Amino acid sequence: MPIYEYQCQDCQEKFELLVLSSSKADDVECPRCHSRNVRRMISLFGRVNSGGSSSSVSSSCPSYTGSG
Ligand SMILES: [Zn+2]
Repeated sequence: MPIYEYQCQDCQEKFELLVLSSSKADDVECPRCHSRNVRRMISLFGRVNSGGSSSSVSSSCPSYTGSG
């Protein structure tokens, strides 16, 4: 989900906001001072995920043991 980070130019408050529509990205007000003078910051995309775990699932064929 697109999460944008904004910073209020009045109180320098940083807040993250989940914007579903790109049109609503411009209609944002500061949750602290309710000012419309906010600046959209760099998106949080490209977050580095530390630690790489690769687990391979090995499936073995079940052996039927029965008299045929
Ligand atoms: Zn503010």
